[in-house]
Amino acid sequence: MKKLNNYRRNFLKNSSYFISSLLFSSIFKINTSYSKSKLKPRIIIVGFGIGGATCISYLLKFSKNFDIIVIEKNERIQTCPMSNLVIADIIPYSYISHDFDYMRLKNIKFLNSSVKTIYTSKKIIETEDSSKIDYDYLILSPGINFKNDIDGYNHKDRTIIPHCWNGTKDLFKFKKRLNDLEKKSTIIISAPDYPYRCPPAPYERASLLANFLKRKKKKFKILILDSKDSFTKKEIFLNEWRNYHKESIEWIPKSKGGKVTYFNKKENYVKTSNGSKFKADFINIIPNQKAADILTRSKLNGNKDWCDVNPMTFELKNFRNIFVVGDSIDAGDMPKSAFSANSQAKILATNLVNRIYEKDILSPVFLNTCYSFSSSKRAFSITSWYKLNKKKTRIVSLGSSTTKVDALSHQYYDETRQAYGWYENLVKTLYG
Ligand SMILES: Cc1cc2nc3c(=O)[nH]c(=O)nc-3n(C[C@H](O)[C@H](O)[C@H](O)COP(=O)(O)OP(=O)(O)OC[C@H]3O[C@@H](n4cnc5c(N)ncnc54)[C@H](O)[C@@H]3O)c2cc1C
Repeated sequence: MKKLNNYRRNFLKNSSYFISSLLFSSIFKINTSYSKSKLKPRIIIVGFGIGGATCISYLLKFSKNFDIIVIEKNERIQTCPMSNLVIADIIPYSYISHDFDYMRLKNIKFLNSSVKTIYTSKKIIETEDSSKIDYDYLILSPGINFKNDIDGYNHKDRTIIPHCWNGTKDLFKFKKRLNDLEKKSTIIISAPDYPYRCPPAPYERASLLANFLKRKKKKFKILILDSKDSFTKKEIFLNEWRNYHKESIEWIPKSKGGKVTYFNKKENYVKTSNGSKFKADFINIIPNQKAADILTRSKLNGNKDWCDVNPMTFELKNFRNIFVVGDSIDAGDMPKSAFSANSQAKILATNLVNRIYEKDILSPVFLNTCYSFSSSKRAFSITSWYKLNKKKTRIVSLGSSTTKVDALSHQYYDETRQAYGWYENLVKTLYG
């Protein structure tokens, strides 16, 4: 404990800025009895999504020793995992929407606000209401932002069909537009280029939209216009589409002119890299992606799309005591997924505690399993294992295993149960 006290005293001596405890307590929605500890190292966590909430679930048992503050801009969490099933009316919205269980977060202060800027030289973050809070250690798991690199497309345009790639209530708008489709319609899904959040999800969305429209007895054609020439679990998806939707789902890869380069929202058509024009009743552009806004605004990503971190600790390159985890980082061979964010955040939190207590840093291994549904009774998965390369600078794949294309129906059904089991266990651990 002496080490911690010395640490905190040194920090306070060097820090040029403190906010008053009066202002501080007034900005917290809960725990208003908060007064700033001068003895404990302060850890601020930005984002209570999958990566941030996993860090908290690990740091919870040290919450008496550290001064932990969580800052999340949303008032509830709506997860992206399972959201395609909500769109397809297979499960209710309540399944993916979670309240914050404050009672569980003992000794942790929770601030419902958006972080505007991070002043790294002063070790201060500033929130949207201009409150400033100093930190000793800063953990960022803010997710993704979107690129506007398709001519005519703006991801912030409220009048177009929302991409539904970031856990917002836009999902209801998407569902309404889907429900409003006539008896016979053409749908375009434009799939982004790597790297992006949840690589199989555009193809899962195509499968589940088809499943939904078939149940509604509507005629449809789904065109997947792809910015890539291949995709994860491709053989299984193609097999599912052949067996259950015949000619109704067509995948057009980049090499055959699938990359969307132009969007005309007035006349509802897109143009692709080889000049082809595709008109549709429903155009769902899933934009290319990059690290969350807060990282760019605070100049933490070195002008790159994704943040470079040390994969042993998740400390941001060139920034001591700032850690980034989840979709915002370049995670080497690991895909951007909730499973990955969860696996990475456990290592981050463990090695941060090890650093604070001056213990050995663990050399990590990681795991990722991505489930995809093609209907309510059929799911399939890919599981991959990862370690660090010899220089310990990059996460590399150790191999993977995928559901067999010719698996039996009951095996596909078993995987749906495993998918629900994985999800329910995750959200119970993170959100109570
Ligand atoms: C359709 C779809 C289906 C998916 N299905 C799966 C699946 O089946 N399995 C799987 O493993 N993964 C899946 N994913 C991927 C998964 O959702 C992400 O990889 C995961 O959420 C990443 O976690 P994160 O912590 O990096 O970001 P998030 O979970 O998005 O958390 C970021 C949080 O930070 C908050 N935030 C951002 N900026 C600020 C700020 N400035 N101030 C305060 N708070 C801020 C946000 O409000 C958000 O709550 C899916 C994704 C999509 C789009």
